[in-house]
Amino acid sequence: METKTDFDKFLEESQEVKDYLKSFDKKRLDLHEVNLMRIAFDAAIPKPIHGMWWCDHCKKNVPGDQVTFQEFHEECGYKVR
Ligand SMILES: [Zn+2]
Repeated sequence: METKTDFDKFLEESQEVKDYLKSFDKKRLDLHEVNLMRIAFDAAIPKPIHGMWWCDHCKKNVPGDQVTFQEFHEECGYKVR
């Protein structure tokens, strides 16, 4: 069974992507374009980095010096993990 990635779901759900893909002759749709979109997608969505704190509220990685002793994010006050 094929596992769908977030990127696959993004492609299926995004009207912008559908319109974009429609503008191509399917035979000419080149992998390079798809790869560029994937790179842009990956860059647009912050992901937890191993070894760093992650704040669900801010959706970003938090350096250790911005985490309180009780493991809260200094900036927003939410619990980090
Ligand atoms: Zn935060």
